[in-house]
Amino acid sequence: MNGENTFSAYDEDSVAVIGGGPAGMTAAVFAASLGAKCVIYEPNPMLGKKLRITGKGRCNVTNDCEPEEFLKHVTKNRKFLYSAIYNFTPADAMKFFADCGVALKTERGRRVFPVSDRASDIAEAFVKKLGSLGVRICRERVVEITTENGEATGVVTRKPHRHAAVIIATGGVSYPLTGSTGDGYAFAEKLGHHVTPLKASLVPVVTEEDLSGMSGLTLKNVVLTVKDRESGKEIFSEMGEMLFTHFGVSGPLVLSASSHMTAKDASDYTMSIDLKPALTKDDLDARILSDFSKYSNRDFINSLGDLLPQKLIPYMVASSGIPPRIKVNSVTKEMRRCLVSAFKELAITPVGTRPIDEAIVTCGGVDVREISPKTMESKLVRRVFFAGEVIDVDAYTGGYNLQIAYSTGALAGENAAKTYAVHEK
Ligand SMILES: Cc1cc2nc3c(=O)[nH]c(=O)nc-3n(C[C@H](O)[C@H](O)[C@H](O)COP(=O)(O)OP(=O)(O)OC[C@H]3O[C@@H](n4cnc5c(N)ncnc54)[C@H](O)[C@@H]3O)c2cc1C
Repeated sequence: MNGENTFSAYDEDSVAVIGGGPAGMTAAVFAASLGAKCVIYEPNPMLGKKLRITGKGRCNVTNDCEPEEFLKHVTKNRKFLYSAIYNFTPADAMKFFADCGVALKTERGRRVFPVSDRASDIAEAFVKKLGSLGVRICRERVVEITTENGEATGVVTRKPHRHAAVIIATGGVSYPLTGSTGDGYAFAEKLGHHVTPLKASLVPVVTEEDLSGMSGLTLKNVVLTVKDRESGKEIFSEMGEMLFTHFGVSGPLVLSASSHMTAKDASDYTMSIDLKPALTKDDLDARILSDFSKYSNRDFINSLGDLLPQKLIPYMVASSGIPPRIKVNSVTKEMRRCLVSAFKELAITPVGTRPIDEAIVTCGGVDVREISPKTMESKLVRRVFFAGEVIDVDAYTGGYNLQIAYSTGALAGENAAKTYAVHEK
């Protein structure tokens, strides 16, 4: 970029943060708290547009656990995150929001939410904090990062701006209407970084079977198991909640499972549901027998209402292979065995995932080998830092991804300010 004399007075000595999501806002809070001047570039009219729709509008702020436990829930490049998570822990994040005046509550699975159940309260807490720290917001899209002699010198929007350091916190490519359109990957590549392949993670799964008849049905306390189709190796098995949709399956269990299915195509895996994990096969058979004796004169299809939601019965009957209109008193032991198997291992066949723009997070991103885990600074270009989803890290659902955004943002903001910014205080 050849535009030195057109550089605006936008603060040669300040930190530029590209992106006003949770990672960028945390980076700015930390940089400004250390006395650095700071500008967030964010073209959206409001900061934290994606943050405001997280957790179905309730925002699962973080997961209330110790760093060691937290890191077990990181599915990609866990080691890289050690310093960041220990530097700004879930407890620190909870304290930060409490200090900002947002009361929090902890729900099942240690998931933390604002008491108000309003994600916008979290975004507004950031906005207020940034205002109190004097962080400026420039409502312009960054189109380029300028460099000289292997160092970043600033950013270009409609015009160039000089900065002491540049933090790339542009997010991934999922939900692009929120502004996360993947610009950071292009910036990183232009600076010489490698970007690992981008895939949908925490994404609903499309199935071969037509499950539309069960659309809207939620199953609670079931176990979903995913296996590698070729080797038969189990790659995921957890209890929780899942949902049937017009295209296949979704809900927390399926989203978590999908983050383990990124190494291959979805069709290279099998999925099965244990509908009655608390019962052994023998217990279940006894339970079925007892229902059968109660409804001995009914058709088989009309005998399962005590054990299953109505919407699921036709699919279960088809999976069991038992004729639906056979009288219950004619169901044989062998048929019952097939029914028990259908209860314990109800098969569904993944054929794909919903597109990446419907994913909760983007798997893949800037290669962590080219970023210092202790500072989030680029190892290739000085004065460039990365924070948040743009980095090749991701985790389960449960508040982990937002915490990763805050923790990497905190480290990037702190180090950009300490190392390069001219301090006001
Ligand atoms: C529907 C949904 C629900 C979710 N719920 C949860 C949840 O409850 N808990 C949880 O932990 N995680 C949740 N997540 C994931 C979480 O939202 C992300 O991990 C997190 O937002 C990533 O933060 P980020 O700051 O890195 O990126 P983003 O939030 O994507 O922010 C990036 C920002 O950069 C801006 N930007 C992009 N390019 C440019 C550019 N060239 N110039 C200037 N600005 C730019 C964008 O406009 C955007 O505002 C959810 C995600 C989705 C989609």
